[in-house]
Amino acid sequence: MPYGVTYADADADYNDADAVIFGIPYDHTASFKAGAREAPTAVRRASYNFEEFHFEHGLDQHLPVLNDYGNCDDFILPEDMIGEVKFAVGPCIRDGKFPIAIGGEHSVNIPIIQSFPAKKIALMTIDAHLDSRDEYMGTPNSHACVTRRAVEHLGIKNVCAVGVRSIGREELERDDVVPYVTSFDIFDRGIEWGVRKALDGLKCDRVYLSVDIDGVDPAYAPGTGTPEPFGLTPLDVKKAINLVGDRLAGFDVVEVCPPADPAGITSVLAARLINEARAVYGRQLRQ
Ligand code: MN
Ligand code: MN
Repeated sequence: MPYGVTYADADADYNDADAVIFGIPYDHTASFKAGAREAPTAVRRASYNFEEFHFEHGLDQHLPVLNDYGNCDDFILPEDMIGEVKFAVGPCIRDGKFPIAIGGEHSVNIPIIQSFPAKKIALMTIDAHLDSRDEYMGTPNSHACVTRRAVEHLGIKNVCAVGVRSIGREELERDDVVPYVTSFDIFDRGIEWGVRKALDGLKCDRVYLSVDIDGVDPAYAPGTGTPEPFGLTPLDVKKAINLVGDRLAGFDVVEVCPPADPAGITSVLAARLINEARAVYGRQLRQ
C-alpha cells in the first residue's frame, strides 16, 4: 500500500473483496476553503477508532470483505481527475463490487456516477447544497454541478438531494429543477419522512448514496469547505443510510476538510458513516 495508512480491516486483495475503498484527494474546484485533498488520509486514520463489531446490526466488520485501492493520482484540471477516477473505479463497478470513495471535494462523484451504465442506478445526495448548476467558475465539473451531471447520465427521475438549505436562484428558476428535500422540512417531519419521500421519487431500484459532509450541521461537522447552518444530525445520516438499506449500490463521503477540522471530529464522523454503509451492504450479502 504505497499511500500510507490503509482503511481499518481493508486488508483483502482486490479479487477477494466485496467492496473497494478509493481515496480521491482532489480539491481544485473548491470555491471557499480548500484542503479536502487531505481527507482520504485523515479519514483512514480515524477508521482505527472503532470496534470491528456492529452490535446493532449483529454483524462483524469483516463482512463485506474490503480492499483498499489506495489513492487516485492527483491532477489540477477536473477533466484529468475524471479520467483518473474512471480508470480506478470503473473496473470495480464492472466487476460488481461495491465502491466506497473518500473525497476530495464533491466533484469526485461525477466520474463515479458516470462509471455506472446510464439510467441503471439512482443518485441520492445528502448535502446542504443542491449542486445543480450547469457550470461554475468556468467548468461543468465543479463541485457545484454534481447533481446536474448526474441528471444528464441517469435522468431527472433518478436524482434527489436530501438536507438541502442553500440553493442559488439560477438553480430554481428553470424547468428541470433537481428534486430535493430541505433540512427545514426534515426538522418538522423527521428524517424517515424525508428519506422515504426522496426514495419514493427515484425510478431505479439501486441507489448510490453520496454524503457531502456539509449536509450535517457544522456544530457536528465543522471541518468542511462550505459550512452551512441548520443541518442534519449525524444520527439522521446514520438512519438515512439504513433507510436506503437493501437498495444501496455504492457510497461516498466528500468535502471533509482536515485543515478546518482541528479536533478531527469531522473525519471521525466520516469514517463512522463509511462503516455504517459497510454494515448495510454487509447485510445485503448475508441475505
Ligand atoms: Mn456537495
Ligand atoms: Mn455541500
